[in-house]
Amino acid sequence: FDQHEGDIWMDGSFVPWKDAKLHVLSHGLHYASAVFEGERAYGGEIFECEAHTDRLFASADAMGMIIPYSKEAINAAKRETLARMGLTDAYLRPIAWRGSEMMGVSAQQNTIHMAIACWAWPSYFDPAAREKGIRLDISEWRRPDPRTIPCHAKAAGLYMICTLSKHKAESKGYADALMFDWRGHIAEATGANVFFVKDGALHTPTPDCFLDGITRRTVIRLARERGIEVNQRTIMPEEMESFEECFLTGTAAEVTPVGEIGPYRFVPGEITRTLIDAYAKAVQPPHVALREVA
Ligand code: PMP
Repeated sequence: FDQHEGDIWMDGSFVPWKDAKLHVLSHGLHYASAVFEGERAYGGEIFECEAHTDRLFASADAMGMIIPYSKEAINAAKRETLARMGLTDAYLRPIAWRGSEMMGVSAQQNTIHMAIACWAWPSYFDPAAREKGIRLDISEWRRPDPRTIPCHAKAAGLYMICTLSKHKAESKGYADALMFDWRGHIAEATGANVFFVKDGALHTPTPDCFLDGITRRTVIRLARERGIEVNQRTIMPEEMESFEECFLTGTAAEVTPVGEIGPYRFVPGEITRTLIDAYAKAVQPPHVALREVA
C-alpha cells in the first residue's frame, strides 16, 4: 500500500505517498504510542469531521500525547488532503505517533508527529457477502478491563487484540470476529460495533470498555428518529440465541448485516434494511452532525 499514487499530509506539508516514511526507532512502532482515526467522505464532505477530530484529541490525551496542531488546523488539513487526492468519496486516516529522539519505554520528550492519508475504499466487507449477512467467528481474545488500559481510545496498542482476532477468524473462513469483554459480555467486532434486533427493538452493548463508535451513535439517533426503541445494556452471549437480526456499524463497515456468529444465525430483516438506507442518506451532505442534535 506504500506505492499508491498521490500525496500524504505529514507534519504540516504534503509529501509524495511513497516518501511518507518514519524512522525505524520511532516510539510509535516499538511501544505502540500512536492514535488514529478512520473517517469517510461522501459527496466531497467528510462525515462527522469535527467529531472524529475531537476523538483523535481525546485518544491522544488518554495516551499522554499532545498533538502539536489545533483541531481547526487538523480539520483543514483533512479537507485539503481529500481535495488534493481528487476524491469526493473516500476514506481518511489521520494518525499521530511518538517519534524517535529517545529509545525506551519512557520517551516523554519525543516529538509527536502527525500524518493524514486518504484513498478510495468502497466496501469494507465483500459486497455479495454483505447482502445475506457476513459470517463472524467468536474470538478467544477479550476486550480488556478499563483498569488495564484507557480502552475508549482509538489507540494502536489496542488493535493487536483486533488483529489477532481477525487473522484467526479469516484463517477459519470468517469475515470478522465478535469479541467479548473481560467479563464475558458481548463487546464489539474488530473494527465495528454490534447491534441486535429482537421484537422490533434494538439491543447494543453499553460501550464501557470499547470504542463508542460515531457510526454507532449516528445509528442510535436514526433509529430513535424512526420510533425504533434502542436498548444499550449488558448483553450476554447466550442471548444471541433469541436475536432475530444482527448488524455491525463503523465508518469503514457502515451498516453491515451479519448472518452468522459462531453457532448463532440471523436473517437480515426490515430494521436492518431501514437503518442501512437511513445511514446511506444521513452521510450525504449536507448532513446533520451528532453534536447539533445532542
Ligand atoms: N470499534 C472498533 C474497534 C473500531 O476500530 C471502530 C472503527 N473506528 C469502531 C468500533 C466503530 O467506530 P466508528 O463508528 O467511529 O467508525
